[in-house]
Amino acid sequence: MQLTSDLHVVGGGYFGFGLSGHLDCHVYVLNSGSELALIDPGMGMPGDFDTILDNISADGLDPLKLRKLILTHYHCDHIGAAAEAQRRLDVEVYASAFAAPFIRAGDEKAVALDVAKAANFYPAEYTLPPCPVDVELAEGDSIAVGNLQLETFETPGHCDGHLSFLMRGGDRVYLLGADLVFWGGKVVWQNIHDCRIDAYADSMFKLENQDFDALIPGHLQISLSGGKAHLDAACAAFRQLGIPPNLL
Ligand SMILES: [Zn+2]
Repeated sequence: MQLTSDLHVVGGGYFGFGLSGHLDCHVYVLNSGSELALIDPGMGMPGDFDTILDNISADGLDPLKLRKLILTHYHCDHIGAAAEAQRRLDVEVYASAFAAPFIRAGDEKAVALDVAKAANFYPAEYTLPPCPVDVELAEGDSIAVGNLQLETFETPGHCDGHLSFLMRGGDRVYLLGADLVFWGGKVVWQNIHDCRIDAYADSMFKLENQDFDALIPGHLQISLSGGKAHLDAACAAFRQLGIPPNLL
């Protein structure tokens, strides 16, 4: 589904638009015209990545022209399909330097898959396939996708190693925020080892200084304009020493 001249949403499940597997996060393709990149390939339940590839083709794009697979954070609804995508496509894999070793190892404990299974979020038989990471990202790193420029922001809080990206050079400025902030300033609080309130607030305040039009999150509503208002709402809650409302 094409959102703008630069951006397509090609997957997403129950907390999305039902475009692909039930557990998939929003899966995006960045389209510069000359080059394509895939942001978070989803959970990777059997057959679900085929649906995502079909959706890319249905949008008139050739999946074999994808050159970069960019992973925002190591939760399985975002990266479970990374190994399959890396195997089937001609892509370099990008992830945060913090998350990279856990993604390479398929470390279920580090990515909180063990507790997510115990909480019945994910099927007990699900496993996280290890995936190579080619490029390790840190604060300020720039990624070029044709004429599109992504600036890397380290945004822990939802989990350690979480990245957000400001994308410029297209028809508007986008915050590719993954699970940092959602419509109405909501966030995802979870009783997992690396979900941290103080880090969450610092990540929000860092991005409060940036201007952007579109908030492109990992789940639920997408805001193509006025997206900054949602980040501002979360910052306001933190500034009152409170916490933003939980999405779940
Ligand atoms: Zn997450």
